[in-house]
Amino acid sequence: MSKFISTRGSGKSLTGAEAIIKGIAEDKGLYVPETLPKLPFEISDMVGKSYKEIALPVIHSFFDDFTLEEMEGCINGAYDEKFQGKDIVSIVQGGQGYFLELYHGKTAAFKDMALSILPYLLVTSMKKVKEDKKICILTATSGDTGKAALEGFADVEGTEIVVFYPNKGVSQVQERQMVTQEGENTHVYAIEGNFDDAQTGVKKIFADDDFAEKLANKGVKLSSANSINIGRLVPQVAYYVYSYIKLVEEGVVTDGTPINVVVPTGNFGNILAAYYAKEMGIPIKKFICASNENKVLTDFINTGIYSTKRKFFLTNSPSMDILISSNLERLLFHLYDGKGAEIKTLMTRLDENKEYEVSDKVKEAMGIFCGGFCDRSDTEKTIGSIYRKHGYLMDTHTAVAYKVYEEYKKRTCDETATIIASTASPYKFADSVAAALGLDDEKNGFDYVKSLNKATKVEVPKGLQDLDKKEILHKEVIKVDEMAEAINQLF
Ligand SMILES: *Cc1c(COP(=O)(O)O)cnc(C)c1O
Repeated sequence: MSKFISTRGSGKSLTGAEAIIKGIAEDKGLYVPETLPKLPFEISDMVGKSYKEIALPVIHSFFDDFTLEEMEGCINGAYDEKFQGKDIVSIVQGGQGYFLELYHGKTAAFKDMALSILPYLLVTSMKKVKEDKKICILTATSGDTGKAALEGFADVEGTEIVVFYPNKGVSQVQERQMVTQEGENTHVYAIEGNFDDAQTGVKKIFADDDFAEKLANKGVKLSSANSINIGRLVPQVAYYVYSYIKLVEEGVVTDGTPINVVVPTGNFGNILAAYYAKEMGIPIKKFICASNENKVLTDFINTGIYSTKRKFFLTNSPSMDILISSNLERLLFHLYDGKGAEIKTLMTRLDENKEYEVSDKVKEAMGIFCGGFCDRSDTEKTIGSIYRKHGYLMDTHTAVAYKVYEEYKKRTCDETATIIASTASPYKFADSVAAALGLDDEKNGFDYVKSLNKATKVEVPKGLQDLDKKEILHKEVIKVDEMAEAINQLF
């Protein structure tokens, strides 16, 4: 049976169900599969299959402590008519690549891919390990995770969901999506700080044993819906496997021919899922990691030095306004051949000195990654030019990826067929996208949704229609050091 261990080397190995409930390990490491599974099928046998038919064996090969029936229940609950469009995700040729549109779920961003299944995985896990405490899900969000987690967990029995977002650090549409969330068990707080402050605050609460005990006495156990939870990461592997099968099906590549993937990256979860797909057996040549002006990953890939000693920018791709990319820790664990002690040293250095440098061997192993960044103005220019040239409308995050890919291609002349992860609906960042198309100034983000729709005729996702008319239910703004107390008061 597959087991999960901490990236920082201590602690025992857990089953999938145990790791999903736990969220983060006692030594503050992240859970990773002890050995990464191989594809449980031949690509040629999967041609013509649906998203769910492909996702089931892929996800089950990581979490094989679930019975096939249990996993099927999770998949069927998650990937249903909540997703608009033909088959959960869409692959659309546009410009120089193939856009893998991951945003057709309820909240119009790719976070729905994992967060619509996580509640099912978690509730099933609780049954499997006979956990009778209430699970309180803590989530720090740069904008999209929060809403997707709220939607996923709203009114799920045995859970409370708490979301912390940076006050003024998310788009108007994102904020309104969260503060209008219905459901008895949903709690939303704006915090005075940026995303890293929120994420660090949440990690600190997880590491606080006294606090855990206090909650345990009230019958409550903490878990996480951030991509530090392995139950968030694994479902994302499925769509990379799916896209390769679709490219084979459509004759874009022959079975066995490598592709490239480009991913607009923040916390490094999405791109790490692509890496897992490669380790399973999907032929991927290059992982092109695209950043905005917070280009900590571009610099890391180019130099082997990870440093957060830099200015933090608020950009028009706010879901990537991150300096501490948590999931990089998982990649490093694999590249350091599972030597947890080395990872622990690096992460301590990051905590204390705000930077670390990886070994020469790991720098070389990072050669399959290529990093690039795109600033605010180029993001807008790219949206405008691709729309005018190819009629394809992108959101700001996808535009960052596209621009970085364009430059990669110019530089390398690499003609490999390339998947571009398209992570949000353009309407989610309507103000920036409208500005990119030169549409007139409107008063607020919601008017931009209307003017963008009028100009492009691209359909507005269901979840974003009439958002401005919904009642605001969550209004609290708190300081970072008040986060724990806010949780405590819920029980
Ligand atoms: C979360 C998010 C990203 C970044 O994904 P990571 O897995 O954190 O790297 C990119 N684009 C959008 C729209 C997002 O919501």
